[in-house]
Amino acid sequence: MDLTLTPAEEKFRDECRAWLDVHVPQQWHDSAFRESLTPAGEIDFLKSWQQTLYNGGWVGLTWPREYGGRGATLMQQVIFNQEMARAKAPPLINVLGIIIAGPTIMVHGTEEQKRRYLPKILNAEEIWCQGFSEPNSGSDLASLATRASLDGDEFVVNGQKIWNSYAHISQQCLLLVRTDPSVPKHKGISALIVDMQSPGVTVKPLRQITGDAEFNEIFFDNVRVPRADLVGEIDDGWNVAITILMFERLNTASLLEIQTKIALDELIDTARRTLRNGRPATEDPLIRQKLAQIYTDVEILRLSTYRSVTRFQRGQRPGPEGSIDKLFWSETAQRLFEVAMEVLGPQGQLVKGSKWAVDSGHWSYQFLRSRADTVAGGTSEILRNIIGERVLGLPKG
Ligand SMILES: Cc1cc2nc3c(=O)[nH]c(=O)nc-3n(C[C@H](O)[C@H](O)[C@H](O)COP(=O)(O)OP(=O)(O)OC[C@H]3O[C@@H](n4cnc5c(N)ncnc54)[C@H](O)[C@@H]3O)c2cc1C
Repeated sequence: MDLTLTPAEEKFRDECRAWLDVHVPQQWHDSAFRESLTPAGEIDFLKSWQQTLYNGGWVGLTWPREYGGRGATLMQQVIFNQEMARAKAPPLINVLGIIIAGPTIMVHGTEEQKRRYLPKILNAEEIWCQGFSEPNSGSDLASLATRASLDGDEFVVNGQKIWNSYAHISQQCLLLVRTDPSVPKHKGISALIVDMQSPGVTVKPLRQITGDAEFNEIFFDNVRVPRADLVGEIDDGWNVAITILMFERLNTASLLEIQTKIALDELIDTARRTLRNGRPATEDPLIRQKLAQIYTDVEILRLSTYRSVTRFQRGQRPGPEGSIDKLFWSETAQRLFEVAMEVLGPQGQLVKGSKWAVDSGHWSYQFLRSRADTVAGGTSEILRNIIGERVLGLPKG
């Protein structure tokens, strides 16, 4: 594993930095502007930002040129992610399209699906969601019950999904369904691309602890899906699902590692400005210990993520080791925001919109938001099982 940038990578980093310096919309850094956006206004703003990035050639860097990407290396993608975080640029709205749906279609999709779907993922013309979890099927994903039966050249889908991020603004859904209930549970699953505007699809938003409503329930009532939108082979959806989850964990960790580093820098800055017993919190020995521990953890996270990137660069598909990065990132982020609450003391209780909230309620929001990180994309308990059984080779519990 080589952690130094080559001269070509340094040049690329400078190119990213120069472009972002000019193009990142500065209003995004103004909390009054962001609070003034309606949910629909924020979506329009973020779509337009993704289009700007796309026009500049910065979305889907590692994707092949023929599908609208740039044919760059994963290391270049990581460099770009780091520069986006450094510039505090707005996020990509079509994140699930980019980190989940696109890579999966590239591995398992037909040529027709690649040409039809990939370019519109990149330019945010079509937003994607992921339809995996169900009310009775989360960690034990293979027990999913949403049913799809073939009727001529179409599947007819019936059932319910839950916790689907972005479903309320999505045009497409990568959906896992049961196509054969008569075989063992991992065998009768298929993956479909479902047009969210199809008759019979109903989306109901769910509100989170932060007050946001980022995720949803989706109901399918006799929804007809063309057979041409089957991804991979029929009844081989478990294989497709594993690809999706591995890409999700690899990409999530490499995207979020740098955001955690930035959050730590901001926390140290906040701690310097916050008084405890009349002195800056950074002079309190207990707080210093905790900040130093998070600093160490963030460094470990960076090295571990680079190890996964190196493995991918050498041509290996993301494997179960991606679970290590996702587990360590989500738990480090939670510890970081817990320390932030400790630094702020009772003032940490004040939320966005409160006149006295420190940093416009950023820390209390992130503290609450980070509770979801050890659940989404695989809970910590499940990731520990995967690491134990599939990375360390321990016997099944
Ligand atoms: C913010 C957020 C966004 C999400 N976005 C999406 C999305 O876009 N699409 C989607 O399909 N899903 C999404 N999810 C759902 C997520 O994938 C599930 O919540 C997750 O897989 C856990 O499933 P569950 O909630 O049903 O919990 P359960 O599986 O019911 O687990 C409950 C508890 O039991 C533990 N547990 C379960 N089985 C075991 C075991 N074998 N060993 C040890 N402990 C176990 C779990 O760790 C957990 O603590 C999202 C979730 C969150 C929080």
